[in-house]
Amino acid sequence: MRVSFAGVQGLRSEVCFSMPFRSGFVCILGRPNAGKSTLLNALVGEKLAIISPKPQTTRNRIQGIIHIPKRNGRDGGQVVLIDTPGVHKPDSSLGRKMMVEVREGLEGSDLVLVLMDVTRKFDPRDGYAIDLLKQAGTRAFLVLNKVDLLRDKAKLLPVIEDYRKLYDFAEVFPISALKRNGLEEMLKKVVAALPAGPAYFPEDQVTDQPARFMAAEIIREQILMEMEEEIPYATTVIVDNFEEGARLTRIAATIYCEREGQKGILIGKRGGMLKKIGTSARLRIEKMLGTKVFLELFVKVQPGWRDARGFVEELDWRRQLEHAMGIPVMNAAVSGHAGPASDAHKKRTNKRR
Ligand code: GDP
Ligand code: MG
Repeated sequence: MRVSFAGVQGLRSEVCFSMPFRSGFVCILGRPNAGKSTLLNALVGEKLAIISPKPQTTRNRIQGIIHIPKRNGRDGGQVVLIDTPGVHKPDSSLGRKMMVEVREGLEGSDLVLVLMDVTRKFDPRDGYAIDLLKQAGTRAFLVLNKVDLLRDKAKLLPVIEDYRKLYDFAEVFPISALKRNGLEEMLKKVVAALPAGPAYFPEDQVTDQPARFMAAEIIREQILMEMEEEIPYATTVIVDNFEEGARLTRIAATIYCEREGQKGILIGKRGGMLKKIGTSARLRIEKMLGTKVFLELFVKVQPGWRDARGFVEELDWRRQLEHAMGIPVMNAAVSGHAGPASDAHKKRTNKRR
């Protein structure tokens, strides 16, 4: 630790301890649709997680890295935010896998942000998230989201009281992840709550997700936007081929659904729907990678895939990477390997900073 001495008006000397670099893992926990992914994107300043008004959009946990330079009155540090699927009672292999992702996100985290949607009344399903938190016993902040939709802010007080009876929250923050209100203040407290520690990721890395997984998620996001009822839930996307060049990236991906009827809707009249999904996904992937993209999409029926444990496990990109690299992915990131985010994505991110 650096110790500096500064004379004040020639009368006395003050000892100023330089502030340590703080770092740690911060898990965002909450019900489906509370705004967890919106919060992750807002805090990192990048579109890392897909978002939709439909519940259970996020299926895998995602890390977003916030690099904080030391500034007046604020510690420097690195916050590894973990976005998790919404806490729910699972009724399929996919749902159970999503809850495993939540538990693994919580495991070993230094701080938990319990995110709740203030426009919804407290119900037993909120208690389920608190139960998970109690099992982990981690220090936690209560984050009341979507306050932009609340006319009467006084209504927050009884909600805070109810939550405080359930867990000893260290801080409470009313925020709007969408409008980015209250985030600076909260982030300051998050950093201050973390232990002194090293940077876990290099400064130019903003996520642990490989670009090919982010591409699959972007395609899935377009499906969520275009499709109604059961189809978004019965659909998943796997990137079969991803060849990143300096100017052109070639991607081939398969959209899996559960029934022939769903396949027909996804393809649409004369392929119109698939073309629409493909075009909007391609434009977004091009923006992310900073290269032109050639995107080929296929639709396949995989009856009952949500309940096929083996298939669901194979959807996990960490699992896919472990197979490809022969090493556990978490260790790769922490031990200082550059991690799996694409070079093009990192470079583009740097330019914007
Ligand atoms: P998640 O399931 O918890 O990850 O929730 P998402 O981040 O996908 O958001 C669910 C929905 O809530 C989306 O339609 C978001 O635009 C919306 N949302 C998230 N945060 C806010 C907020 O602060 N205010 C408002 N009005 N809407 C929000
Ligand atoms: Mg989400």
